[in-house]
Amino acid sequence: MTIRAVVWNEFLHERHDAEVRAIYPDGIHATIARALAVDGGISAATATLDQPEHGLSQGLLDATDVLLWWGHRAHGDVSDDIVRRVQQRVAEGMGLIVLHSGHFSKIFKTLMGSPCSLRWREAGEKERVWAINPSHPIARGIGPCIELPNGEMYGEPFLVPEPLETVFISWFEGGEVFRSGLTYQRGAGRIFYFSPGHETYPIYHDAAIQQVLRNAVHWAHNPAPAWKDVSDAPNVPIERARERIVQQGATLHKPGEAGLR
Ligand code: ZN
Repeated sequence: MTIRAVVWNEFLHERHDAEVRAIYPDGIHATIARALAVDGGISAATATLDQPEHGLSQGLLDATDVLLWWGHRAHGDVSDDIVRRVQQRVAEGMGLIVLHSGHFSKIFKTLMGSPCSLRWREAGEKERVWAINPSHPIARGIGPCIELPNGEMYGEPFLVPEPLETVFISWFEGGEVFRSGLTYQRGAGRIFYFSPGHETYPIYHDAAIQQVLRNAVHWAHNPAPAWKDVSDAPNVPIERARERIVQQGATLHKPGEAGLR
């Protein structure tokens, strides 16, 4: 089975900033998609902010197993309707990989329900991304750590809910640490946040970073049929309950009424 991945990028820095364009002439999304496609088990398409519906039509999302998200400057330009659509697909079982400054995206903040704020410094300092959970599938083949000669410092406190698993912790030359690889689940959807990926450093060209992204796509893929009844009533009217029950006590509803709220 081929995992259908889509790499979403706001695609602004690469068009407006020569420093970024020099590193990602076709856009960060294109570089990541090419890195994913090295794995014959992954097909990788792309979508960008300026496309109709930000390139994320219902039909495309319904046919997406894992969505990757890179955004920075234009979080506020992402339509709330599209955010709700992505959130619904995550609940149904679509995987989501949120990258770098995507920590402040509407979709990540919505799914986390917390500020998602952090400390940052752009000094091109060394970053060591330690695989503190080396047996985790996302860290497969990585070794003890990934050493990036230039990283943007992201530091704790990172105001996110306690994750299911912490896969990576980054150390920075300036002394800070950061939980740089975290897993979550919302509904049937698996979520991975991975912090390396600042636009002015060639981080998505790094072979080990690319391996993490391929591993993460495999991990985030939930092969179970989409949980399409996620918004259907989880209960049934009294006359169709599994065991015979009779209405007891007073109710302000119609007797036996059931539904979803
Ligand atoms: Zn950055």
